[in-house]
Amino acid sequence: MKSSLVIAIDGPSGSGKTTVSRLLSEELGLRYVDTGAMYRAVALAVYEAGVDVESAEAIEAFCSGAAVEYDTNTGAIVVNGKDYTGEIRSLEAGRVASIVSSKSAVRSLLVDYQRGLAREGALVMEGRDIGTVVLPGADLKIFLTAPSGVRAGRRQAELGPDVTAAHVSSEIDARDRRDTTRANSPLKKAEDALGIDTSSLDAEGVVAKILGYIEERLSN
Ligand code: C5P
Repeated sequence: MKSSLVIAIDGPSGSGKTTVSRLLSEELGLRYVDTGAMYRAVALAVYEAGVDVESAEAIEAFCSGAAVEYDTNTGAIVVNGKDYTGEIRSLEAGRVASIVSSKSAVRSLLVDYQRGLAREGALVMEGRDIGTVVLPGADLKIFLTAPSGVRAGRRQAELGPDVTAAHVSSEIDARDRRDTTRANSPLKKAEDALGIDTSSLDAEGVVAKILGYIEERLSN
């Protein structure tokens, strides 16, 4: 099997990308890169710095001086020297990430950084635009989907009983809308991506499907 495999995994919130990508990277012994963690951390840093998110100039100025460090061993994410790893998983961090991620200066900062990680060798990278924009030449592209009700149920199980199902569901719908309709790199399936509906599969089942596909299509 090719030892320098580059695998792109995309899909909407709650489609199972993170669990599947992590498991797959472990199975194949590849580095794992969670690009959503980067957008979440940069968004928190933008808000903390008091940057006006509606001002393209202010966002550009912030990005031109920003330093992003993602540790592929631990998943730790540091922006401008501050470690955001413990803060990025909240519903609020996801909400601000989907607002800030529509800004072109933010996207070019992170896309350049992500491509730099891929130049260092084999990996599994997950996000929204990996197969379409970040790594269009990836060896394998996967696009995970599930109906929004299923995805909202998964997110609520992660967030716990403090958040109501109705709130999670409306946040997921709002994020889907922002992510699929933005002008810059909207969430969409690459033409050459393999689509997998994860509604009736657990993460192991999805990974088994992907491994079968790799065996069949990429193992020579
Ligand atoms: O995947 P996750 O839910 O952590 O991503 C948070 C937000 O970051 C997404 O809703 C999306 O707006 C943005 N994102 C993006 N491009 C990526 C990864 C995430 O725009 N490659």
